[in-house]
Amino acid sequence: MQKLTLESSVAELHGVGPAKQKSLERLGLFTIRDLLYNFPRCYEERGNVLPLSAADTESPYAFLLTVATEVKSVMIRRGLTISKFRAFDETGAVEVVFFNSPFVKEVFHTGSTFRFYGKLNLSKKTLQLTNPKYEPYVEGCPLPQFVPVYPLTHGVNSKFIEKTTTIAMEAVLPSLIDPLPENIRLQNSLPTLSFAIKNAHTPDDAPTLAKALKRLAFDEMLYFGIGISRAARHKSKGEGLRFSKCDLQPFLNLLPYELTDSQKMAVNDIYADTVIGKDGVVSPMARILVGDVGSGKTVCAALAIYIAAKSGYQSAFMAPTEILARQHYAELKKMYAEFGISCELLLGATTQKEKRRIYKSIEDGECLVVIGTHALLSDKFSFANLGLIITDEQHRFGVNQRAILKDKARQAHMLVMSATPIPRTLALAMYGDLDVSKITQMPKGRMRVDTFVVDESYRSRLNDFIKKQVLSGGQCYVVCPAIEASDEETENAVIIESFSPDSTISTYNSNIKNAVKHAEYLEQNLEGISVACLHGKMKSAEKDGVMSRFKNGEISALVSTTVIEVGVNVPNASLMIVENAERFGLAQLHQLRGRVGRGTRKSYCVLVSGIKSEKSEARLSIMRSTYDGFEIAEKDLVLRGPGDFFAALDGSTFRQSGGFTFKIASLCDDSELFTTAFQTAKTIITEDPELSLPEHRGLRLEADKYFAPINSTIS
Ligand code: ADP
Ligand code: MG
Repeated sequence: MQKLTLESSVAELHGVGPAKQKSLERLGLFTIRDLLYNFPRCYEERGNVLPLSAADTESPYAFLLTVATEVKSVMIRRGLTISKFRAFDETGAVEVVFFNSPFVKEVFHTGSTFRFYGKLNLSKKTLQLTNPKYEPYVEGCPLPQFVPVYPLTHGVNSKFIEKTTTIAMEAVLPSLIDPLPENIRLQNSLPTLSFAIKNAHTPDDAPTLAKALKRLAFDEMLYFGIGISRAARHKSKGEGLRFSKCDLQPFLNLLPYELTDSQKMAVNDIYADTVIGKDGVVSPMARILVGDVGSGKTVCAALAIYIAAKSGYQSAFMAPTEILARQHYAELKKMYAEFGISCELLLGATTQKEKRRIYKSIEDGECLVVIGTHALLSDKFSFANLGLIITDEQHRFGVNQRAILKDKARQAHMLVMSATPIPRTLALAMYGDLDVSKITQMPKGRMRVDTFVVDESYRSRLNDFIKKQVLSGGQCYVVCPAIEASDEETENAVIIESFSPDSTISTYNSNIKNAVKHAEYLEQNLEGISVACLHGKMKSAEKDGVMSRFKNGEISALVSTTVIEVGVNVPNASLMIVENAERFGLAQLHQLRGRVGRGTRKSYCVLVSGIKSEKSEARLSIMRSTYDGFEIAEKDLVLRGPGDFFAALDGSTFRQSGGFTFKIASLCDDSELFTTAFQTAKTIITEDPELSLPEHRGLRLEADKYFAPINSTIS
């Protein structure tokens, strides 16, 4: 057989035919690398074997049982065969039942012992174990404590992925070359890559799993750090466009409010970058504007566009969703019209005829401002004289996409806006290639959103509260961590919520609210109130439809996943409920809270959490007492580590664009690991900017997988 590598197709693995290959591809698993980096979403805790007498019928458990009788199979009717036998341990006996699995006759022989995993049930006073999972037990050969559970799709089950992954690991891990130079690996007490991959899939115990995850998290952070450090080195070479001096007052006169000091400072930064320059030279601006939701970033962008337009340069303003693009367009078009600055909206959904018209006016240089979505990245047109590129909510776009837009005009200035406050200590690492302007003040007169933390015992009061808000004319968001019920397999499973490399894995039995089911629940329990569901698996037209019906008030309670996190403005919304709040990062909760209290209504945020750990209580109580996003981010970093910030960077659009994903780093609650990884990246890049030393060749290949476009297009 030909030697398999990480880049071989999954089809080359034993047991993967065309049908299975298709199913795996549906999970995004094309190569062996994809398969090996497809980590379990949780593990079944089978190491904790219970005596039969100690188990209840509530949750699945592991048992060590010896087969007592032969398997008897009975055909009950066509299509239903039942196979049964009895098994026992020192404390009792149980009837083991399998449906439609006559082959178990060949598996279970009297006197042999197995580890079973399943839920006990009582049938006519007989204790049963129905369709349990099982592994043969041999004295002296301990079975793994954790059994991996993988994300599934139609046509493959977790067992299949487990088996295929094991085959893949056996084929490639022994000859896998570790891209991490050994001295770095040893300095940080990290295991080899093969060890890490093997033990992330099939760990022997919790400490081994933590060790494996530590290595994989370090890799992600290191490659990210290398990418950012290289981008920073490449940035702002050469001259940029110089915009002409201009008086902003006429534009400011159109605003119904005065800018906050923070906004003024941000605008001054932009003015300095694009008009004044440094030592007489204007370099291409690469600036990020960070500010809480509602802090008024859009108007700063609008002023930047005004400066560009006054100098005769075009601006492209890219928003992550059509709703947001429309919202910006509606607000800005009127103002620019006052100055004869023409402004167009370009969306995927724009008709061909309209697109042709807009393309032409952009190519003629007649249209000075174009607001839109990814449609702006189209190669079907070019700008006459693009001077300014603005992207909103930048973490939703890949660095790659930024690069594509930038490619349309290499000397253009770039402004990205983000509502994710990044703690000071991480800012340099995450935005190393960008200068930072912060908006730290909220506009005057903003009401504070009263925040409560409640548990399940408040459920009916909470429902009454939703009714009260809606009946008095308000609207309500309900955010759940999951989209759909995950299959039964994961019930009571060990979910890796977060990990510290040096502690054991924190685990708990999950009871996660999912948006689809919770919407049904609310529909049944909130009579007369229109409830709708919104989540990331819906088509974007569907999503936009639901969102605009919520916006115009047809829908009163919107149950969703965090898709609503991105800047939609519904001033009438007065209540934000977050289910399983302990599962969210504080920065994220803060963003969610920022969805309400945008109008004149007194607004509330209710965080529902059943978890009673000291740490999660401490975290949630920060939300009750702190309303400043930056302060929250700093505190969250201390309590939870950097993982949440990686999770925030790992937005869905970002992922699709082939950008960086933080599968493991987003779980890490150890700030030190991040700092070390980032510092290591910086040292490597300082010593060897092109990663051309032999020991860095592996790193270069890895980092390029994520950051290739930077070298070729951001200059
Ligand atoms: P974000 O920073 O989340 O993008 P927006 O730019 O959407 O925030 O601004 C939120 C709202 O605040 C908008 O309705 C905007 O008109 C308003 N706003 C912005 N700046 C001020 C200000 N200085 N004073 C009062 N209202 C403001
Ligand atoms: Mg915004």
